[in-house]
Amino acid sequence: MSKRAIYLSGTTALESTTTAVGTMGLGAVGAGVAHRQGTSATALAAECAPPQPEITKPFAAAWLIFCLTFFGLLFLSHLRALHDTYIAAGVALFVFAALRAANAKAVQDNAPKLAQYEMEWRCLTCAGVFVP
Ligand SMILES: [Zn+2]
Repeated sequence: MSKRAIYLSGTTALESTTTAVGTMGLGAVGAGVAHRQGTSATALAAECAPPQPEITKPFAAAWLIFCLTFFGLLFLSHLRALHDTYIAAGVALFVFAALRAANAKAVQDNAPKLAQYEMEWRCLTCAGVFVP
């Protein structure tokens, strides 16, 4: 059976909502709702999962860097907010571009591994991997 077929047949989309209500201290009530999305895979499917490039989130990272730089500069420069905004934006833009480039390279580097993966079959008797 092809690895891809094993992977797909043993993977299910997962969506769950967890609601938790807890009491904290003097009668204060805390309620939290955790929403979780993802996939659940059998051990065999996980073993036959396609190779994934290591991807970061450029926008989230750049936004974080922007905030850190902005407030860091603001703290240091005694409220030269506009000036600090430009510098922070420049730094964030640089980080964003660098991470985008890194992601593109990761996808490119993963392409041959993925192509090999698509050809591979796994024997369900002896667990041997082969290309038919
Ligand atoms: Zn076999």
